[in-house]
Amino acid sequence: MSVEKTLSIIKPDAVKRDLTGKIIAMFEEKGLRVVAQKKILLSKEQAGSFYAVHRDRPFFDELCEFMSSGPIVVQVLQGSNAIDLNRQIMGATNPEQAETGTIRREFALSMTENSAHGSDSAETARDEINFFFSGLEVLQF
Ligand code: GDP
Repeated sequence: MSVEKTLSIIKPDAVKRDLTGKIIAMFEEKGLRVVAQKKILLSKEQAGSFYAVHRDRPFFDELCEFMSSGPIVVQVLQGSNAIDLNRQIMGATNPEQAETGTIRREFALSMTENSAHGSDSAETARDEINFFFSGLEVLQF
């Protein structure tokens, strides 16, 4: 399997509860390395432009409100099959449907406050990494 990069976000509900270290450990245990990382606070408008693909969905306003409600940790994870592996480690969008041992099953509070984001395809990963990071901020090795 090829080495990939993917965008991961530790969402405000998890940062607020000091779960950042535990979540990063879950990625590292499965072979994903952090090659870029920063803690930032998005405005509601910036959250809206990141989630623009969902702009017509009924949950869009609540999602943007939540994503700008506190600091997030945005990071680039690298490893073999990183895009799918990140999503497996996160678990299903709805925490009630997420498998035991996944981030969302262990930590999520609700469908909106579900602790983590991960890119869902190679194209999305490239666009989402470029949304948050310049080339110089991403470790190349
Ligand atoms: P993901 O790739 O698993 O994060 O899911 P999506 O890309 O479909 O949705 C983006 C985010 O919007 C999710 O992580 C949830 O926080 C939120 N979301 C998605 N679907 C719903 C929904 O039906 N209700 C609510 N309240 N939030 C949702």
